[in-house]
Amino acid sequence: MGLKDIQDRIAKAEADSGRVAGSTTLIAVSKVQPNARVEAVLQQGQRVFGENKVQEAQGKWPGFRDSYQGIELHLIGPLQTNKVRAAMEIAQAIHTVDRPKLAQTIARIAQETGACPKLFVQVNTGEEPQKAGVLPADVDQLVAECRAMDLPVVGLMCIPPADEEPAVHFALLRKFAERNGLAGLSMGMSGDFETAIAFGATHVRVGSAIFGERDYG
Ligand SMILES: *Cc1c(COP(=O)(O)O)cnc(C)c1O
Repeated sequence: MGLKDIQDRIAKAEADSGRVAGSTTLIAVSKVQPNARVEAVLQQGQRVFGENKVQEAQGKWPGFRDSYQGIELHLIGPLQTNKVRAAMEIAQAIHTVDRPKLAQTIARIAQETGACPKLFVQVNTGEEPQKAGVLPADVDQLVAECRAMDLPVVGLMCIPPADEEPAVHFALLRKFAERNGLAGLSMGMSGDFETAIAFGATHVRVGSAIFGERDYG
């Protein structure tokens, strides 16, 4: 547990799979965590963080940005169109582009402001009805639509079904990314980030293994 341990495990997973050292970006998922825990990780030098709610990010990160340079915030939760503007103001990357309407809204605001976070298209690899993400059959189309609007799509993201072998889903996501000429792969969480690295993850999203369990009470 803890940042150092996760960094060591990432380095080992990279070495074990013959990958370049440092080719995986660790996103420390700080959602719901108390500020004191987040600050401790900032003090250890971590600068890339993930949040899944715009409002929570707005409450937490402007203050930390006043005290720490170089913070990069990744939005990894479902995004409603009415929160897009706020999301684009606070985040340097959005991992959850999953429908044309959302892409269109992002494009319109990017045109207006002249700035856009890096984007990942979220894929519902398990085709779970309750889960966000574009269906596998529609991935290529959505990526093409984003590109037609000049959106900076850098990769794909997935959250495998809880009760299935994650490797199958990581392999699928990589296949979709390669087919679309996308280099970024946002996959792997506390329980499976080493497997994700073996399958080529460029971004792993690790929360509880760094910060401890989230207390939703
Ligand atoms: C919460 C969350 C994570 C981190 O989960 P842990 O199991 O705590 O590592 C990763 N990705 C997404 C999309 C999340 O919502």
